[in-house]
Amino acid sequence: MEQEIPEGSVLNQLRLYFNTLQQTGNSYLFVTDMKTGTVLLSDNFVEDFDLPGIVLEDMDKYWLPIIYEGDRNRYTASLKAVFETHVTDEHNLEYRVQYRNGEFGWVNCRGKLARDEDGTPVFWAGVIIKMDQRLRADSVTGLLNRYAMNKTLKDELEASAGCHGAVVIIGLDNFHVIKETYGHHFGDVVLKQIAQNIMNVLPPDILLYKLDGDHFGFLWPDAMPDEMEIIFSSIQLCMREVRDAEDTLYCTASAGAAFYPVDGTESVTLMKYAEAALDMARRQGKDRICFFSKENYDRWRYDVGMQSLMQNCIAKGCEDFMLYYQPQVDAKDGRLIGAEALLRWRDKDETIVAPMQFIPFLEKSRMIIPVGHWIIEQAFATCKEWQKYQPDFLMSINISLYQLEEHMFFPFVEDCVARYELDPHTIIFELTESQSVTDWDFVNQQFQKFHSLGIQIAMDDFGTGYASLGYLKNFACNIVKVDRVFIIDIMRDEYDRNLVKYVIMLCHSIGMKVCIEGVEEKEAYEYLRDECDADLIQGFYFGRPEPKDVFLQRFGAK
Ligand code: C2E
Ligand code: CA
Ligand code: CA
Repeated sequence: MEQEIPEGSVLNQLRLYFNTLQQTGNSYLFVTDMKTGTVLLSDNFVEDFDLPGIVLEDMDKYWLPIIYEGDRNRYTASLKAVFETHVTDEHNLEYRVQYRNGEFGWVNCRGKLARDEDGTPVFWAGVIIKMDQRLRADSVTGLLNRYAMNKTLKDELEASAGCHGAVVIIGLDNFHVIKETYGHHFGDVVLKQIAQNIMNVLPPDILLYKLDGDHFGFLWPDAMPDEMEIIFSSIQLCMREVRDAEDTLYCTASAGAAFYPVDGTESVTLMKYAEAALDMARRQGKDRICFFSKENYDRWRYDVGMQSLMQNCIAKGCEDFMLYYQPQVDAKDGRLIGAEALLRWRDKDETIVAPMQFIPFLEKSRMIIPVGHWIIEQAFATCKEWQKYQPDFLMSINISLYQLEEHMFFPFVEDCVARYELDPHTIIFELTESQSVTDWDFVNQQFQKFHSLGIQIAMDDFGTGYASLGYLKNFACNIVKVDRVFIIDIMRDEYDRNLVKYVIMLCHSIGMKVCIEGVEEKEAYEYLRDECDADLIQGFYFGRPEPKDVFLQRFGAK
């Protein structure tokens, strides 16, 4: 009920003050006399919310119904902390209110209890601020957006120096499938239901935000990682409650969390880290929560960076890739008989990067397929050129399993053989151990096609990974390349010496040639030549991998 303000009273003086302040338009002011419970409101407060007057006896009777239903519990819990449990003298809360015209909007309400010298509460005064347009609610779920989450986090970090807590971002794993299958409208219904379910799981004082696309977020002051694991399990459970009429809908969520201050103290950084952790959770198979770690993040950034560098390089026609060539010699007399083409990448600062640092990316992203085409073109052209000096010059080219799986690979090679007018018997494809072969029938079928074209096949890195004795009988190859791990200690280790000798014998007995890799010392070469009957040798003793022109100078035109 509206009251008269007694002349000369404090509330009357405050009224003048209110009228001056409210001209900013974005804020509503209130002050409650704690002795009487009488509330004084600014004029715009009364106007915008259609309240009975500027002085009210029972503010909550009018104000509670104006607060959006879903936010009322948070509101009463926050006031309870001030007036009943006395844990704080302050109230700082964001909630939705309904204006006189029926529209809902978010406000930030801040109140503070003013006490006299004895500590007795005198006034409860504060301001309700209309929240910035940018923080506006998401139209589907009604939740505040990313800006709002970022701002709240920033305020929290600035307000209390020693504060700690978690920034959590949730992403729906297969929401785009739901939208594509059931349509956008149904997608919105699901999104709304998911938002509601997650809110039900979160404590009333934790606000859920709707970020871009299918991402949600929340801030959890004082959180510990194990608490976040538990809350995420509840979220996983509530995701299972989202169902369509036929019970066919299936939606899971992944989450990423960053903790302040350990992971960072800047709101933007923390949000970015939580996103990165979410991306990690998705890469690890979805339906799980991942915590940010600097180490994982650095690796993730390196991966993402490398990926885009490789993409750029391919888009520019592989111009930053180069092929180096390492000589292969006849073990009997050391005569040059061919070379292995080895990929290099020239970094922006002109450093030559070794393949183990980037080939895994090319393989993982299947970029090895376009790069593989480029490699074959280059190596074929070089081979053709060098055959002018040495007509039977052999060119060995590394091929990863992914290339073999690509159905255009064989016709492409066939076309290259024709275009470069190469004798296919001078080409050797080395299958690298990029991925262990699971389907030998498929691999051998492919090899059979290359064999019938005339191309020879080598099993690379024999003795490591997949390439071991057991596979020799499965693998339809012409040449076995023995890995350098067996050669490193060959002059010091009798076991290795015997092993290499018997492997060579075994290969010869089944009609395969042997190339020994990693030969660096004269004694090792002599042993392999005199005692082992090796066919081919490749190693630093005869030459390191070199760019084309350097190779040509050393071994070329006589
Ligand atoms: P790989 O096919 O086993 O190639 C032989 C590697 O051993 C080369 O390393 C070569 O520089 C090194 N090497 C040769 N002789 C010696 C020696 O006497 N001592 C020592 N310490 N090392 C020696 P690189 O060029 O770094 O290549 C590493 C791997 O990257 C290759 O191993 C191959 O698996 C892969 N790779 C290189 N080029 C290509 C390519 O064009 N395509 C594909 N798919 N993989 C490639
Ligand atoms: Ca190789
Ligand atoms: Ca090898």
